[in-house]
Amino acid sequence: MNTPRLEIDLGKIYHNSLKLVEWMKAEGICVSGVTKAFLGEPKIARVILQAGVEALGDSRIENIERMRHAGITSRIMLIRSPMLSQVKRVVASADLSVNTEMETLLALSQAAILAGKTHEVLLMVELGDLREGIMPADLENMVQRTISLPNIKLMGIGANLACRSGISPDQTNMGQLSQLAGGIEASLRITLPIVSGGNSSNLNWVFKGRNIGRINHLRLGESILLGREPLQRKPIDGLYLDAIRLFGEVIESKIKPMKPWGTLAQSAFDRNPTTGSRTAQLQTILAIGVQDVDPDGLVAPQGFSVLNASSDHLIINTGNKKLAIGEEVRFQLNYSALLRAMTSPHVEKTFTNSDVISQTPLYPGSLPIAA
Ligand SMILES: *Cc1c(COP(=O)(O)O)cnc(C)c1O
Repeated sequence: MNTPRLEIDLGKIYHNSLKLVEWMKAEGICVSGVTKAFLGEPKIARVILQAGVEALGDSRIENIERMRHAGITSRIMLIRSPMLSQVKRVVASADLSVNTEMETLLALSQAAILAGKTHEVLLMVELGDLREGIMPADLENMVQRTISLPNIKLMGIGANLACRSGISPDQTNMGQLSQLAGGIEASLRITLPIVSGGNSSNLNWVFKGRNIGRINHLRLGESILLGREPLQRKPIDGLYLDAIRLFGEVIESKIKPMKPWGTLAQSAFDRNPTTGSRTAQLQTILAIGVQDVDPDGLVAPQGFSVLNASSDHLIINTGNKKLAIGEEVRFQLNYSALLRAMTSPHVEKTFTNSDVISQTPLYPGSLPIAA
């Protein structure tokens, strides 16, 4: 088999998706499965759909187009504000997009008229993480203008936390989102079917069994793929942590001094400088580098550790265990390492264990919309 490669256990991804959909359903929350970390790879997207998510979500229109070309007809939402230069493509391939700017909404409306379609939108609200979002004080006005746009259907409001500043979803900010939804519905006499609370970092808040309020939708990526919540990166009980593993191949294994010699200047990536004693130690090199993976996001097997990396070389410490040239080493990945490995053309993707997947979704997804 080729290396470096990602082994993607579709059965485990299915299990993780199924559990999350089931747990959220019990709280009245429906799930969109976020596909951006794997470039919208249709094989994975299909598995997540099979598990009963109500829709797929991706931040890149190319990934959405890829899924459409592969024949995926489910609801797909664009979860990053559309670029003005891409509104035609957005209307053509995405059912819904998240938005914060009137110029963009106007352009989407024009594009939807031309395409003879209705394009759904969620308005994103700023709740403190300082990434995308309309300031709460301006929301009602934006809603009013949005609902007047032809061929645009306002489906609700949403928020995203923990991504830029690490602000955690809690009772205060989620309560505010619920209140904003209720307030707008009352004053404008409309209904907002979707109140989308956030991403995998909302799971802790949901699991705590707090008052969910109006939140009835989450967009989940990392928790499905890695089985962890992103705030403390703690494992989520009942989910697989090793659905995706990375394999690299040994190309050098030699006893070398721990300390470099010569005149010391910057290294290629100015990573942690190599220090240590002159004592010699076994050093192993794998044919995988910064171009393929975020070395800081790799979890080496028990007893091994990652020492350093350059574009194409990963230097690891294997203790006293001498690995053969050509031998493979297996790693688990964090989100950052996963994102880079999934998007590197040098890393082969292989799929296993797809036979456990039921052909009929156990929890057929449905939007929290009155039918
Ligand atoms: C990436 C992203 C998500 C998914 O986040 P995870 O932490 O992977 O669950 C959800 N919403 C938005 C807007 C995103 O950009």
